[in-house]
Amino acid sequence: MVNVACDLAGFIVEMLPEGQKLFPLGDKASDRVGAFGFSHARKIPANPAKSRYYLRCVCYLMPEFPRQVLDSLRQPLESGEAVVARANAHVTFPARFQLVAAMNPCRCGHAGDAARACPRVPRCIGDYQAKLSGPMLDRIDIHIEVPPVAHADLALPPPAEGSLEVAARVAAARAAQDARFTEIVGPQSMLLNAHVEGELLDRIATPDDAGKRLLVEAAERMGLTARGYHRVLRVARTLADLDGADGVTRIHIAEALAYRETIAGRLGAAA
Ligand SMILES: [Zn+2]
Repeated sequence: MVNVACDLAGFIVEMLPEGQKLFPLGDKASDRVGAFGFSHARKIPANPAKSRYYLRCVCYLMPEFPRQVLDSLRQPLESGEAVVARANAHVTFPARFQLVAAMNPCRCGHAGDAARACPRVPRCIGDYQAKLSGPMLDRIDIHIEVPPVAHADLALPPPAEGSLEVAARVAAARAAQDARFTEIVGPQSMLLNAHVEGELLDRIATPDDAGKRLLVEAAERMGLTARGYHRVLRVARTLADLDGADGVTRIHIAEALAYRETIAGRLGAAA
């Protein structure tokens, strides 16, 4: 087991031996234009192939960085590689990480809250949300809006399925992916649904006929990019794995599409 650190001062993501602490965030982070590069105090490792930087970890992010800095995540999110360019070196690092991001609806956080209305709507929303560009949003597979919790809801009983049960389903879905890609690609592949493309994606995630029809109709209606279309397929394949289903069906496509509705709405509003 390793700890994972996201040093957002340079977007350096490192795996640390167990017991070490996470890096604190650099307070100059928002000034750093050379994002996704190494902090100036650090040298580029001599052999990036042996580097474990960025690899297989979770990067947690909030939109409090300049848009240019946030957009520098686009390439590694797409390709799984980060290119670090310096005067004396141009090096490609593995950067297969999972991005988890959270943001308020507006800078003050009260937009959409009937009890504490934001006094600067709509500008407060527009200024804040514009930090995330359309292409950046398009690379985030699952968007979920979380409304404020009403006091009455706090008294409700806990959900029937708890964290332990969900964790077991996730572990089973990961095991299903391991078995799938070990069979197709080989035991060293370390692939997940999120990584596959082209023929391999077609092979594992082509939905049933009803699912195909729904996806084509929704792609048209929502204005999905080619990237978005393939991302829906990958998410749907994972939803099928969480269900323990062999094939991707209409219900998996419908749920994967629902996670992109917010992006479609936002991109439509921005256009
Ligand atoms: Zn506001």
